[in-house]
Amino acid sequence: MRNKSIVREIGKKLEEANNILITSHIRPDWDAVGSVLGLGLALQENGKKVQMVLADRLPEKFQYLPGSEQIKTPDSNDYDLSIVLDCSDFLRVGDALQEEQPDVNIDHHITNLKFARLNLVEPRSAATSMMLTECFPFWGLDISQPVATALMSGILGDTLGFRTSNTSPKVLRLCASLMEKGANLAKLYEFILIQNSFEAANYWGMGLQKIQRNGKIVWTTLTLEDRKKALYPGNDDADLINILSAINHYEIAIVFIEQKTGRIKVSWRAKPGWNVAKVALKFGGGGHPAAAGAEIAGTLEEVQQQVLQMTNELLTSENYSSYN
Ligand code: AMP
Ligand code: MN
Ligand code: MN
Repeated sequence: MRNKSIVREIGKKLEEANNILITSHIRPDWDAVGSVLGLGLALQENGKKVQMVLADRLPEKFQYLPGSEQIKTPDSNDYDLSIVLDCSDFLRVGDALQEEQPDVNIDHHITNLKFARLNLVEPRSAATSMMLTECFPFWGLDISQPVATALMSGILGDTLGFRTSNTSPKVLRLCASLMEKGANLAKLYEFILIQNSFEAANYWGMGLQKIQRNGKIVWTTLTLEDRKKALYPGNDDADLINILSAINHYEIAIVFIEQKTGRIKVSWRAKPGWNVAKVALKFGGGGHPAAAGAEIAGTLEEVQQQVLQMTNELLTSENYSSYN
């Protein structure tokens, strides 16, 4: 932890508060859910009243995590401390919070806008769940088995199973301590990173049939029609981006996912050395140097053309290895 004084200030707020609301970003991922549950359950175990709220209904796969049934969609909220986790801008909270400025933001995105009263932002951290694991001893919070499971899930999700370049010795040491507290690494790894549904595999097939390449970029699209044909229930890419980014000899992978809103969800993944968050930010999105996203208004063709052009500009303008 670089910023110990903010960690302590947050600890004081947690101690003083009795009714705490914890939330994260729309389209929740394992780090969003893992950090909300990890902190939420730990505070409950310390006698606090905690509300865990996400703007989007929790996708089914997260029911694997103990305590996930407590995560609710927004209600008329009454609380005395609000905490936003794993979220770089307030818009991404959706309607989970009605107030103008939340009390606390804990996050690791390089594009974080520091929108809360107290902001603990560490872009070098591999996951928000990792930041929390480091903070708990300072806050006097113990790590029970369900808490360890939630935090490990967040770290596994964001590091793609310890494969990202920000997987430091510290990440592994913290995960070893979570295993000692009862997190089952092999089971979580299998569930979070390996297993997928028949429908998702079918949906991948639709995207993989259409892969294209241009210079150092490899990309594909997923339409609403593909989703329907594959009977895939989500509005995401079922992690197809991880398969695209495994194709060798390309620096950047992109998936364009058509949405019912008339917008296109774009996911970028880059090999170490490039900063795709810069491009995502230009389109109103954000993320990390190696993994970024945005939701862009327009047709698939329009968005594809603009995004490929801007991404190509990054590849020609950016000094390779200026990051990492
Ligand atoms: P994704 O491609 O959706 O898996 O996202 C990759 C990374 O970028 C994650 O860390 C997300 O939190 C972040 N991200 C995705 N979409 C957005 C967005 N619209 N605004 C800000 N950050 C985003
Ligand atoms: Mn996240
Ligand atoms: Mn994260």
